[in-house]
Amino acid sequence: MAVVKSIVELSHDYLAQVLKPGDNVIDATAGNGADTIFLASLVGETGKVWAFDVQSCALGRTYDLLGEKGLIEQVELVEDNHRYMRKYVREPVKAVVFNLGYLPGGDHTVTTSAPDTLYALEESMDLLQDGGIIVISVYWGHTQGEEEKNALADFLREPKMKSWQVMEISIPNRAKAPCLIIIEKKEKGTN
Ligand code: SAH
Repeated sequence: MAVVKSIVELSHDYLAQVLKPGDNVIDATAGNGADTIFLASLVGETGKVWAFDVQSCALGRTYDLLGEKGLIEQVELVEDNHRYMRKYVREPVKAVVFNLGYLPGGDHTVTTSAPDTLYALEESMDLLQDGGIIVISVYWGHTQGEEEKNALADFLREPKMKSWQVMEISIPNRAKAPCLIIIEKKEKGTN
């Protein structure tokens, strides 16, 4: 097994460290459902996953996968823009996952966008419990990808982010490789 892990493996490692049965979590970009499945298995039947996507075909694939794995009970699929997450989620959450870019095997012109992603990120930060994390896999190979990546980088440098723990992991030796951003809401009383 390679010591240097993929972006997907790393993001799942972070989530597995933080999540336990009974937690509430958000998958802001359900896509093909891989993260939704992972989250649903970590929080179990006593927890809850809200999985958003603007494309019904993505939610259809996610629904089928959840059915195959017997994980449908704890998941609410929401066909809406993640910028409106607070219309649906009214309780604190332990994690929010974003997987930016287009749906693999789908319409490559439908992608996440800087304004919606940043708006949804701020909403996620408001919903996050102390000790919770936001995990963003930034696939930026698409047309607006660079703009979205730069907008995120600017946002993370803003003074208000000083009270958060932020980490970025990148792959410098591959062109337009995805990167991973982890944002942790510090537990009160910790440094
Ligand atoms: N690039 C990743 C997968 C990203 S899937 C990979 O290769 O693994 C991104 C998903 O986000 C798509 O299914 C797309 O429909 C969805 N999406 C795009 N904009 C959105 C928005 N504003 N709100 C919710 N979902 C959105």
